[in-house]
Amino acid sequence: MSFVITPPAQVSVPVVGRAERFPVNRVYCVGRNYVEHAKEMGFTGREPPFFFIKPADTCVVVEPGQTGVVRYPSLTKDFQHEMELVVAIGKGGKNIAAADAAQHIYGYACGLDMTRRDLQGEMKKQSRPWCIGKTFDDAAPIAAITEAAQAGDVANAELSLTVNGADRQRSSVSKLIWNIGEIIEHLSAAWTLYPGDLIYTGTPEGVAAVVSGDVLEGRVGTLTPLQVKIA
Ligand code: MN
Repeated sequence: MSFVITPPAQVSVPVVGRAERFPVNRVYCVGRNYVEHAKEMGFTGREPPFFFIKPADTCVVVEPGQTGVVRYPSLTKDFQHEMELVVAIGKGGKNIAAADAAQHIYGYACGLDMTRRDLQGEMKKQSRPWCIGKTFDDAAPIAAITEAAQAGDVANAELSLTVNGADRQRSSVSKLIWNIGEIIEHLSAAWTLYPGDLIYTGTPEGVAAVVSGDVLEGRVGTLTPLQVKIA
C-alpha cells in the first residue's frame, strides 16, 4: 500500500524480558478514582467511573534505564503530575464482566497522566470538554510493561511519585475506588476494547505543579520505575 503522505509510526512500549514490543492503540484514562484525590479536586462520594482519552502519540515511551523528556506544554501556568498504574490490554472485548477482566490484561506499567490543570479548571467552569487540559504533546509518559504473570500483587502495590527526590504522592493501588476489574467492566460497556489499548487507572492525592528542570520518578510495586525530566 502507498500513501499520499508518510503515515505516522506505530507507537510501542518495551516489555520487560521480551524483544517484542507492545503496540499502543487507544489510551483511556479514569477520572477521580482515589477518594483523597477526589476530595482535593473538590468532590466527595463514589460517583460512577468516568473516562477520557489521550491519543497514542501523546505517550512519552521511556526505555528501561533511561530518563524520558516531557516538553513543558504551551498555554499553561499550572502543569501537574498524576502518577498512575497503567493496565495494558492484550485481548479485546465488549461488555467484559469484572470477574473475567484478568483474561484481557496483558500487563502493567507505571504511567503519568500529565495535566494542564488551569486549562482543565477553566473548561470545567464553562462546562466544556476537558480535552485541552488533558491532551497535548507528551501528555502520557509510560515506562516498560511487565507481563501480568510477572507483575506480582499489583492490586495491593504501593504507588509513589517523587519530584527531585522529594515525596509528592504515596498511596496504594488497593485504594482505587473502582478496581481494575470494575474499570474494565465499565469501559467495555461504553467502548469495544482492543488489543493494544492502555488504561491509566487514576491518581491518588498529592497532585501538584512541576516546572522545567524537575525530575519525576514514579513507582508502582515491582514494576519498572518511570523517570522523566521536564524540559
Ligand atoms: Mn488522572
